[in-house]
Amino acid sequence: MNKKTKTIIWIVVAVLIVGVVAFLLTDILTAANALDFSEFRQKILDGEIVKVYANAFVWTGEAYDSAGNVIKSYTTNAPSIHYYADWAAFEAELTALNGGNPVPLAIEFADPNAGSALSNLFPLISIAIVALVFFLLMRQMTGGNAKAMSIGKTKAHVQSNLKVRFSDVAGAEEEKEELQEVVEFLKSPKKFAELGARIPAGVLLVGPPGTGKTLFAKAVAGEAGVPFFSVSGSDFVEMYVGVGASRVRDLFEVAKKNQPCIIFIDEIDAVGRRRGAGLGGGHDEREQTLNQILVQMDGFESNDGIIVMAATNRADILDPALLRPGRFDRQINVNLPDVKGREQILKVHARNKPIAPDVNFKTVARITAGFSGAELANLLNEAAILAARAGKKLIGNHELYEGINKVLMGPQKKSRVVTESDKRCTAYHEAGHAILACLCKHCDPVHEVTIIPRGNAAGYTMTRPETDDMDVSYNKLIDNICMTLGGRVAEELVIHDVTTGASSDLQKVSSLARRMVTQWGMSDKLGLVAYDSDQPVFMGMEYGHSERTYSQETASAIDNEVRRLISEAHERATKLLQENRSILDNMSRVLVERETIYNEEVAMLMKGASYTEVIAYMDGADDTRRENPFAFVTTPSSEHIVADDTENTTK
Ligand code: ADP
Ligand code: MG
Ligand code: ZN
Repeated sequence: MNKKTKTIIWIVVAVLIVGVVAFLLTDILTAANALDFSEFRQKILDGEIVKVYANAFVWTGEAYDSAGNVIKSYTTNAPSIHYYADWAAFEAELTALNGGNPVPLAIEFADPNAGSALSNLFPLISIAIVALVFFLLMRQMTGGNAKAMSIGKTKAHVQSNLKVRFSDVAGAEEEKEELQEVVEFLKSPKKFAELGARIPAGVLLVGPPGTGKTLFAKAVAGEAGVPFFSVSGSDFVEMYVGVGASRVRDLFEVAKKNQPCIIFIDEIDAVGRRRGAGLGGGHDEREQTLNQILVQMDGFESNDGIIVMAATNRADILDPALLRPGRFDRQINVNLPDVKGREQILKVHARNKPIAPDVNFKTVARITAGFSGAELANLLNEAAILAARAGKKLIGNHELYEGINKVLMGPQKKSRVVTESDKRCTAYHEAGHAILACLCKHCDPVHEVTIIPRGNAAGYTMTRPETDDMDVSYNKLIDNICMTLGGRVAEELVIHDVTTGASSDLQKVSSLARRMVTQWGMSDKLGLVAYDSDQPVFMGMEYGHSERTYSQETASAIDNEVRRLISEAHERATKLLQENRSILDNMSRVLVERETIYNEEVAMLMKGASYTEVIAYMDGADDTRRENPFAFVTTPSSEHIVADDTENTTK
């Protein structure tokens, strides 16, 4: 049900309630000693009622005692307007009923317009109330609309003289080049118009959250020195009926008066999703808004000085109509930054921060594969806060390293009370992860193992990829599943019981295995078919709308394959940990004692070093490593650089 019908139903209900109440009220008041008209007439014939006061609605008959006092009064609904006009007809009727003898009766007609009787007013009052309610409702509705529209006007905020420049957006050189054209057009639209060049009406920025799409749009406006009208798709969603569309109209209207300029629609997927998707109904508002955007974009000539930019995380769910020529016909993919990009982003955000001279952003960039620009900015901010809290003048490696961990896993919870047995359990769990990460050759190297709680995790094993490999192989996935199950397996082997601590591990494992089967065609049984479109549910709009395109049998075959992958990995993990039980025991003992170990200790333990040897090494080791937690980051043999979306931190 959409908002329009809801409002209408609301009004109808209100009117009905008011009407019913008014009628009940009239009835109660007049029903006091109301008679049927025939009963009333009988009382006249009986001689009981000797006087009648009549108005258009009610007749009141009075009975008198011998002294001439009113002893009783009766009412009845006025029989018919006819008697008004022709009192004689009623007299004749009475005479006929009385066997030809005239009946003595005095009758007084009230002026039909005077309405002296109170009941006279009730119908009028109820009509008035209904009308009033209606009027108020209408006023409130239009009033609401008016307010929303004014919100619309202010919410699409305009920024002129934006200070953001391309130099503030680090990395992403190709994207900048593509956008440079847009900047030049905005700077001098005439030049392009004279040559008849068709400039894209719309530019769609597509990329994961935090990759700088909004920043890019602003930078284009800043570089071109034009006003920047921005509005977010999600603003339209919580709108009153019909306001989304009118807001779009307003936005374009204002923009047209400020050419050249940029209109930026952030999160366009909130309104721009494929029409007719979902459960039907309830989409009217969104569709009207979307239609209005399309209409407006068609409405201006390509050589008008307006460029519409929009940002989304996913272009695949957008309505195809949006992507047609003349609309968002240019797509720019903004990806997660590669090693070089990360280094540049770190440098951009370090511009106004005092950084210790021994900090090497190359190294920081290397172990932050998969971080978005926003996460890198956040990392530096966390580091700055830590340095300030520690009373330092410069941000050092220590703070940066802690910043990375904080962005990855949430803040350390050193003060959380942990019992000895919990500690032991966590130590075994993490040692299980770490050992399997070392034993499975496709896993990323282990940088740190800790049982200090952080975020929701009781401890964690930090592995970071050495390169930015984007494509993940079957073997790497299988090894990752095995490693992720390591924590649970260690608990099974040692504690002979399992804890709830592995729940996020299990979630990760299940989703990896399921995607291997349904998306990446990595199961022979199901073949090279993509079964799931992996569409997340947006804003609760598509509940119950599953995109399943396969049969029940296929569904259960998928389940079986997922289970097979996981149970094979579980067997392998169990076997590996059983074979290396002494390493598992040693590592967890060291962890219980020291809480955090780094790659060197892990390597020693894997080579068979005993508990005492490792503790002795840790006591003897010079502390430079702890001064610079990045010391372990080695230069990878091959520097091939692509974006990476694997996140290899395991609880
Ligand atoms: P998106 O719109 O893609 O979700 P934003 O543009 O809002 O991302 O980026 C959020 C913040 O992250 C920016 O304000 C900026 O501080 C930082 N950031 C993201 N990408 C970059 C980049 N390439 N260079 C510099 N800073 C960036
Ligand atoms: Mg954004
Ligand atoms: Zn775990």
